[in-house]
Amino acid sequence: MSSLASSSVPNGTKITIPYPCDFHHHFRQGPAISSLVPIASQRFGTALAMPNTKPPITTVPLAIAYHDELMAARKEGGGEMMEIVNVLYLTDNTTVETVDEMAKHDFIVGFKYYPAGATTNSDFGVTDFLKCYPVFSRLSDLNMVLCIHSEVSTPTVDIFDREKVFIETVITKIVKDFPNLKIVMEHISTIHGVNFIKSLPETSKVVGSITPHHIMYNRNALLVGGVKPHFYCLPILKRETHRAALLEAASSQSGRFIMGTDSAPHTVGSKESSCGCAGVFNGHAAVEMYVEAFESVGRLDALEDFIETGKKFYGIQDGGRTMELVKEEWRVEESMELGEDVVKPLRAGEMVKWKIVR
Ligand SMILES: [Zn+2]
Repeated sequence: MSSLASSSVPNGTKITIPYPCDFHHHFRQGPAISSLVPIASQRFGTALAMPNTKPPITTVPLAIAYHDELMAARKEGGGEMMEIVNVLYLTDNTTVETVDEMAKHDFIVGFKYYPAGATTNSDFGVTDFLKCYPVFSRLSDLNMVLCIHSEVSTPTVDIFDREKVFIETVITKIVKDFPNLKIVMEHISTIHGVNFIKSLPETSKVVGSITPHHIMYNRNALLVGGVKPHFYCLPILKRETHRAALLEAASSQSGRFIMGTDSAPHTVGSKESSCGCAGVFNGHAAVEMYVEAFESVGRLDALEDFIETGKKFYGIQDGGRTMELVKEEWRVEESMELGEDVVKPLRAGEMVKWKIVR
């Protein structure tokens, strides 16, 4: 698929890494939750649940109810302990009072900002970010986080250029106007995103999250030899130069890039359609795939920084818990249960090179 392959360690090699946390995870709603929470809890010490449900999680009472539902599924699913943290869905009408209300709950860490219409269930999103300035200001005062889907949704802007245009027209201004605001530029997908983050001063509180699929695949995976709807996601996969730059950034030990899988399941029916949904489901093997990608560039040593940078940013304390993995191939299932339906996981029917031991 991509041009991974260069570097590798022998089969049977074991590595120990800090216990990973996923700072961008879609648990969906309804019956799907009980399929997704146990899978995530086998891999992550903490997961940040995205709020783009139907309806979106726009208020504190909705966030409490959603958090309770996710925690109940965790209890039912058994397995290891996974903490779940939440963000609220930012709209043009979100008030400063809501921010104050959020701050009373430890599990609510901030907001997710979706430009209106940018991705799945984002119709309630922000149409004019200037309207959100009072909210940004209060978030900054309270040291809470603003997670940003960093693409414009302007119909006339080419889908491959949407991140670049967002940097030029939106995020640069927000970062300049709120230098103390903690911002995650979510799922960066281009060298422009990488360079933007790297260009910020040392004191900046901006990090970029990076998905497994954006460092393992380029747009050929989506488009060569026929349209492969299960590789369709937003931000869309870009050309190889961008993939390589993202993997270089993730493994650069710069303390500016964090783990965020954007595991985003949709039913097979809604993906394999004349107008398929955007989203890649990688929750079944996300950690293993990050390890594989870092191995391909000889940077297994950089996993620690990548994992710890996110924990430090979000203030996650886990007492130095670790995870052990072994280099041992296993085959991904062709399909997996998603509530009453099925989802096709990333790399369905193909091999993954690393396995979690404990
Ligand atoms: Zn997402």
